[in-house]
Amino acid sequence: MNMFSSLRPLVVLSARANDLPLKEDDCFASWDEFLQSGSEARGFLVEDFTAESLAALIYAIRQSRWWALPIIGSKDAPPDDFFLLDALLASDEARAFSTDMAVRHEEMPGGGESMGLDEKILYFLYVRGPRATLKPFLDRDSFRLYRYLVAEYLAGEGEDAAQTIDRLYQHGLLERVDLLDRTQHCPACGSAHLHVLMVCPRCDSIDIHRDGMEGFTCASCHHSFGQGIAHLRCLDCGQDSAAEQVTHRDISTLALSRRGRTAVRAGEIRESFAALDNERYVDPTFFRRMLDWMLSLHARHQDFHFSLLYMNFVNAETILARVGERRLYLLLNEFANSLLDLLRTSDFTTRTQEQNLWLLMPLSAAEGVSARLMALFERLQTAHKIEERFEIDIRSLDVTEGAALDLPAASQEADADALMTSLSSLSRPENREWRG
Ligand SMILES: [Zn+2]
Ligand SMILES: [Zn+2]
Repeated sequence: MNMFSSLRPLVVLSARANDLPLKEDDCFASWDEFLQSGSEARGFLVEDFTAESLAALIYAIRQSRWWALPIIGSKDAPPDDFFLLDALLASDEARAFSTDMAVRHEEMPGGGESMGLDEKILYFLYVRGPRATLKPFLDRDSFRLYRYLVAEYLAGEGEDAAQTIDRLYQHGLLERVDLLDRTQHCPACGSAHLHVLMVCPRCDSIDIHRDGMEGFTCASCHHSFGQGIAHLRCLDCGQDSAAEQVTHRDISTLALSRRGRTAVRAGEIRESFAALDNERYVDPTFFRRMLDWMLSLHARHQDFHFSLLYMNFVNAETILARVGERRLYLLLNEFANSLLDLLRTSDFTTRTQEQNLWLLMPLSAAEGVSARLMALFERLQTAHKIEERFEIDIRSLDVTEGAALDLPAASQEADADALMTSLSSLSRPENREWRG
């Protein structure tokens, strides 16, 4: 069911609704009252709530099936804290604002209600338009000092907002808009609550005293020195760390990247599998040309060896139907990113159909790579809670040093097309070694 519709009303939630002489149909005094009415909404205008009850109301909306809708504060009576609101507008502006969002949504496929937090965050930004961002909120009592509140409000049970944001950023689905701060973190527990202590450079004691104009003396080891060294003590776990052991985090406003936008729009198998096109991806024509070049190089220099690997997602259509385009995109995107770690800069990938992947790896053997790819996929499938098992067919060919070329039976010439056809059309999964 489509969550947005420009035909639905802008619902007014006003703490004073019951005091009004003439209460409109779409006006409610509380979230419960709205729920009991059975009404629908294309957005919410919130008025006259205290900061605390407003936060609770916004949390209730973000946890409900209306989670992606705009929540707008009244421009005439702005609340004390409007960090969690989409905008402060007059009511006619609020109507136009939520209609724009509804229209943006109506152009898109999907929008199911059982999304994971990663999907929700991307979707949430997408429907808010190209300038939408996630803003870090400074909370000095929080473990990491900065929080992405929208993500926390959207998180379901067992979902970690900070980790999800990190993952989306690492996988290129979110990008930085501007850098606001850099926090320092305890290497033992990750807390950002550190304070600086000067210690003796010889014995690390904090019991040091200024000694005249020259410098300091350590009361523990009696060492005299010009300058102590800085240690960072964690207020959460008590560990002392040297400055170079401390880790740093860049705190930025985040927006959807081009890749993130594609993920949200993914409406068909083509778009879901486009996630596989990572930095090592080249178009199939270039891939074939490189393969031809490696074959001719191998013919002249027998010690030049390489391998070709073919990976086919056999039941991709079934998986797609089961989990939806966006979940599939997110899983494949993570796979493509992890694949980068397995590949060298001289390796290439391409796709000749939506649901296959080719790897060309000069001076390396496919042995081990297949097993690692399988293990990687197993891990991701569990992490993404995809129950329908992927059937993956991996075949590889090592073109190694040895005797004269023994061409595949089907072809007269050792060219890229012949090799790729032969490898992808083997009747059963099988690893081949071609000794040239
Ligand atoms: Zn000392
Ligand atoms: Zn710590």
